[in-house]
Amino acid sequence: MAGSGTGQDRLDKIVSLIAMEMGADVCSCYVMRAGEVLELFSTEGLNKDAVHNTRLRVGEGIVGDIAGHARPIALDNAPSHPSFAYRPETGEDPFLSLAGVPILRGGKVRGVLVIQHKDRRRYVEEEVETLQTIAMVVAELVAQGELVNPQEVASTGDPALLPARLSGTALTGGLSMGLAVIHRPQLTIRQMVAEDAEVELERLNAALATMHSAIDDLLAAAALAGLGEPKDILETYRMFAEDRGWLSRIREAIRMGLTAEAAVQQVQNDTRARMSHLTDPYIRERLLDLEDLTNRLLQHLAGRKSEADGGTLPDEIVVVARSMGPAELLDYDQRRLRGVILEEGSPSSHVCIVARALNIPVVQASDALNRVEPLDPVIVDGDHGQVFVRPAEDIQMAFAESVALRTRKEQMYAEIRALPSVTRDGTPISIQLNCGLLIDLPHLHASGAEGIGLYRTEIPFMVRSSYPDVQAQTDLYARILHEAGDKPVVFRTLDVGGDKMLPYIVAGEEENPALGWRAIRIGLDHPSLLRQQLRSLLRAAAGRPLSVMFPMIAEVAEFDAAKRLLDLELKRLGSQGVEPPSRLRVGTMIEVPSLLWQLPALLPRVDFLSVGSNDLTQYIFASDRGNPRTATRYDPLSPAMLCLLRRLVDACGEARVSLSICGEMAGRPLDAMALIGIGFRTLSMAPPSVGPVKTMLRSLDVAALRQYMAGLYQRGDHSLRDKLCSFAKDHGVLI
Ligand code: PEP
Ligand code: MG
Repeated sequence: MAGSGTGQDRLDKIVSLIAMEMGADVCSCYVMRAGEVLELFSTEGLNKDAVHNTRLRVGEGIVGDIAGHARPIALDNAPSHPSFAYRPETGEDPFLSLAGVPILRGGKVRGVLVIQHKDRRRYVEEEVETLQTIAMVVAELVAQGELVNPQEVASTGDPALLPARLSGTALTGGLSMGLAVIHRPQLTIRQMVAEDAEVELERLNAALATMHSAIDDLLAAAALAGLGEPKDILETYRMFAEDRGWLSRIREAIRMGLTAEAAVQQVQNDTRARMSHLTDPYIRERLLDLEDLTNRLLQHLAGRKSEADGGTLPDEIVVVARSMGPAELLDYDQRRLRGVILEEGSPSSHVCIVARALNIPVVQASDALNRVEPLDPVIVDGDHGQVFVRPAEDIQMAFAESVALRTRKEQMYAEIRALPSVTRDGTPISIQLNCGLLIDLPHLHASGAEGIGLYRTEIPFMVRSSYPDVQAQTDLYARILHEAGDKPVVFRTLDVGGDKMLPYIVAGEEENPALGWRAIRIGLDHPSLLRQQLRSLLRAAAGRPLSVMFPMIAEVAEFDAAKRLLDLELKRLGSQGVEPPSRLRVGTMIEVPSLLWQLPALLPRVDFLSVGSNDLTQYIFASDRGNPRTATRYDPLSPAMLCLLRRLVDACGEARVSLSICGEMAGRPLDAMALIGIGFRTLSMAPPSVGPVKTMLRSLDVAALRQYMAGLYQRGDHSLRDKLCSFAKDHGVLI
């Protein structure tokens, strides 16, 4: 690789070295050309005239088979194999045995490397592995573009290189452009071959040791938080991290001359290629675990630099991921983050909620990881669910125009900031914010919102590697109250579980996490956790008003149990001489439908209720909010939801309990319009929604809408969206 000469010269040298070192009669290298054709590029042992003349389609012959399935083949009688394609020009007749491996790079097959022997011979596993290791080095040579001009592949439609438009689903709105950063990328391995295998083995051992101790720290933190022995995580990681097969294959690859990083990567490439055809969900999950472990190990080898590490990233980035959690998104420098593309995701998943708070567009596009290369320029259109990869000039110009239009709209929103939040016919509507990060707080004053209707306390927990103690929590909540000034804040107690796992709370593998051990259920099972949080909130408030809201309450008895813990902490506060809150309001989220049938018992107990329409919708329709196939299958603007919400509004009105709604629908202008029509007067939303929702409501005549909606509740439509949209258009409502 490091030798002189052209790419072809070096390939020829490599091929003859392999033949010699492996005692093979033949070694040949086929390289992928445009149109999925494998061309014989170099050979030792076959007829040299066949070089650049013999070509096979992917799937044709044994070589084509290896490329087609991206997996090695070892045969002791190749001519008897059903795929054998005889090519007389190569002079292949006398060779009986064949072992071949794909040349893989970036998840794509770039060629095939083959050895052949005259005699019948069974290849042992080590020989095939050796060949795979060498194929990895050859892959770098192919990738350098000296053998085949990358333009050639580009001009004949390699989807990785032409401008491309990916049609997907809009998850969060907005429009932005940046350079692609592949989340969990294969770290760029600069050095493939090492001079001293012993040094590399030592580096591997050191990285394994730090990785093990990092995992142990994680487990210890979980145990400290009183969460028992998190066996499942332990098992998964230990299963692989101490798996002799996995480790010995990495060590073997190092002994073959690879650097530790290259060896780890090679074993992963190989495993991925071997398992890629398996569809069993359990195996695929394990494969993801193994990928995760590989990435961790690579990061430890690289000195713990994560892919989110700012130093190596461009200034404007678009993260491309299969899927990701909210904490992983927060690992990226928010000043650089421009957009997110997910292969799997849905609008009310928590990563999108966080992205919305950061005002970053997110688009779900299947196959994104195959179509976007690292550092490709990409435009993310979160309003229309489109991604433009390597956009051509006309698209870039259209992008600039759209950005200018958005800027004008934002100016318009800024202009109405100081105007009252009142409908055209005089109904005041309280607009509140959903927050979870300190960076959200400046929006509270800048947006003109009246308060924080939902402070998601779990978000600050998710960005830490260990459970924050009472002092740390008290400081954080006090700071939020301080920055909010005289605007009220509703603190929701820890709502983890489902798609919001904390590294130190391990629920184990659950078949239905959304229906599983989450939110208040964890809090009630580990009262010390919830009590510490309540203690911190009370201390932070000290003499100021405090509102506490419990998530995922399914029955009145749960509310009572949670409230008892709050009362205990309040008493304790008194005995310690800390000033109690000047006013303590306690409420619950309406997310679990069972609560709707307990309103007569619930309403006298609470000071307020807030509808979590994200979860309520998923439970009402039995439709997973995080699964792209089901997340948008049912519309919250459907007769079922609207009827149920109207009854809730009426019941709260009679009981004089204040009611708000803080799910994502409250921030979508058309949905917000319907909510106001139903009777909601307090809407809590992500900061970027304030302008559009306020614009809408200031143009709305509520009386006319109420009258119009009266005819909708009893209908049998799948969705009332079109009808509500027509109302808005006919009545000049700015949605
Ligand atoms: C909801 O469920 O609507 C809600 C606001 O809570 P979260 O999205 O955090 O689950
Ligand atoms: Mg919820």
